[in-house]
Order: sequence, then structure tokens, then C-alpha cells
Amino acid sequence: MMNEMMNEVLNEMPDVRIHCEICGDDFEPIIKMQADGEIETGYLKCPHCGTIYIICVTDAELRKKMMEYRKLYLRNCKKRLPERKLRQMQKMLDANVKRCNELIEQHPFVRAEDTEDGMQSD
Ligand SMILES: [Zn+2]
Repeated sequence: MMNEMMNEVLNEMPDVRIHCEICGDDFEPIIKMQADGEIETGYLKCPHCGTIYIICVTDAELRKKMMEYRKLYLRNCKKRLPERKLRQMQKMLDANVKRCNELIEQHPFVRAEDTEDGMQSD
């Protein structure tokens, strides 16, 4: 599951706190997922003021590519890799991040839960 994968990534970074720009509080990053067809949005929600921070938006293809990268990363992270291989992995990661940003623009987040205080987009 994407959700588990993302939280696993965050768990590898000890003591990560997210600083909310709106209310100024720090909170633990627990990624929530919302699926809309094949589009999945990973986001953080400030527990104090409810501000949503979009982490990533993926479609099926991008998820596959992210899993591929993750597998490669796990297999190689403890090794000393040749420059060429490192560049190749960095390129994969860059492409995934770029695609993720495209999807974020194409799929504005609509909250399925607690929509009562409706986030007005325009
Ligand atoms: Zn906040």
C-alpha cells in the first residue's frame, strides 16, 4: 500500500515534525490517503487548525514507478554505487517528483471528509 510506503519513508527520518504555516504549531507527520478512481492523494492535516498539506498525487503508473524506485533504493542504499548508477536513480526520482507535481496541478484536492467548512478554490 502506498500509505504504508509513505509512512515507512517518514519513519526512517527520526523526529520529523511538520511546522504548520497557518497556526504555527508543530505536529507529527501522519500521511492520510484519499483515493479518487486511480488517483490517490497523500496529504497531511494539521491537527490544530485543519490545514491540508498535499504531499503527493499519484496515478497507477506513477505508483508503479515509485515502487520500482523504492525497490531499487532499498536494494542499493547500503552499497557504494558507481556514479552512473547514482545518476540513473536520481533521474528516476526526479521524473517521479515532476510527474507528481503535474498530477497535483491537474487534480486539485477535494476533501471527502469534513467538507463542512468548504475550502473555496476561487
Ligand atoms: Zn495548523
